[in-house]
Amino acid sequence: MALFERRPEKYFQFYAQVHFLTCETCLSHHGEISEDPPYKPPLHPDCRCHLLEFPPSQLEYYQEQAERMKLRAQQELTRRKLWREAIASLNGTDPSQAEALFRQAAQVEFYLEEVEQLCAEKRELFDKNPELRTRLQKLFIRFYRMKFSLDKYRSMPPKLILAWETQGIERIKELLP
Ligand SMILES: [Zn+2]
Repeated sequence: MALFERRPEKYFQFYAQVHFLTCETCLSHHGEISEDPPYKPPLHPDCRCHLLEFPPSQLEYYQEQAERMKLRAQQELTRRKLWREAIASLNGTDPSQAEALFRQAAQVEFYLEEVEQLCAEKRELFDKNPELRTRLQKLFIRFYRMKFSLDKYRSMPPKLILAWETQGIERIKELLP
């Protein structure tokens, strides 16, 4: 059976901003196309999702977009899982497993806000383990530089990227001295 047998006048695509704060429900709808959306954002307080209206003539294009969007939402969920696993495996004796997990997570995206959270959570461990702090500082600085080579930052002015990079690196040094 065809996805849409009767051609409606317009369609809607669910659009969520994919980042570390987006809730799993909103991520699960990212890219969804329908003629009568079963979910109409905002789905909760602070929901930043919206519906994008488009004509049937553009259905094919939006279906292709939907594939990419669903993949990105899935990648974000995987990234969170890896980041959590990395934190769970941080014990200070052999950080190499945690580092490998952090690296995998950072291939998708890397958020300074999550480093701040991590440093608050693991303050005690980091306080008594300067070697671990140094290793993570180097690693996170590398990730923060890598972050801006992601496609989504490509259209931003290089000056702005450089300012972000400089500020971010300073912050990482502050957090993990
Ligand atoms: Zn939302």
